[in-house]
Amino acid sequence: MQIILFGAPGVGKGTQAKILSQKYNIKHISTGDILRHAIAERTDLGNAAKEVVERGDLVPDNLIGRLVKETLINMDYKKGFILDGFPRTITQCGLLDRIFEELKIENPYFVILKADTEIVVNRLTNRRLCTECATIVNIKDLDDTQTCPNCGARNTCIKREDDKDSVVRKRLEIYRKTTFPVIDYYKDKYTLAILNGTDPIDVVTQNIIKVLS
Ligand code: AMP
Repeated sequence: MQIILFGAPGVGKGTQAKILSQKYNIKHISTGDILRHAIAERTDLGNAAKEVVERGDLVPDNLIGRLVKETLINMDYKKGFILDGFPRTITQCGLLDRIFEELKIENPYFVILKADTEIVVNRLTNRRLCTECATIVNIKDLDDTQTCPNCGARNTCIKREDDKDSVVRKRLEIYRKTTFPVIDYYKDKYTLAILNGTDPIDVVTQNIIKVLS
């Protein structure tokens, strides 16, 4: 099963992708997670992307296209995957088309999660990311010891640099102008499922599962 999970920052793609990847035993490919990991490890990719990611801009299309292609080639992509955070520009759609053509990947599920801007701003500014297990946590679910509710690590749940209020607004503006048109690009190519991302997490998961089945 090949799934492209699409939607604005903060709509819940990462949370849903993690649940679905466990349920279907398929790999979750998050371009944002790959970049953050590279930044933390100070690899060449991380050093090249750090400033761009932290100020909320998009890293160059070719770089991210290469990254996705390498990730797919180095895994059992025929078994299935969930793509989260790619494609984000029309140029990336062209790159993805070529990758899918080369790897003979046809008719992926294209699932769009939607939510109002104010809701996603609220979610993004109130969320923390566990640097140990990459789980996304709302601050209301963290106690004084800041223990990650998923992996139990202490003091590992941090606010992402790009989840600061001004950067969040910029990322949403980039989504509106540059990423949203991706839907139009694919509307005649794939069947698109549009779901409400503001429902409770388990309801969104159930709705996605319904679409996939
Ligand atoms: P995300 O975790 O998906 O919100 O991504 C975090 C940041 O990583 C984005 O704000 C971009 O700076 C960068 N990034 C992730 N995916 C892409 C992509 N497909 N194209 C360009 N930049 C990306």
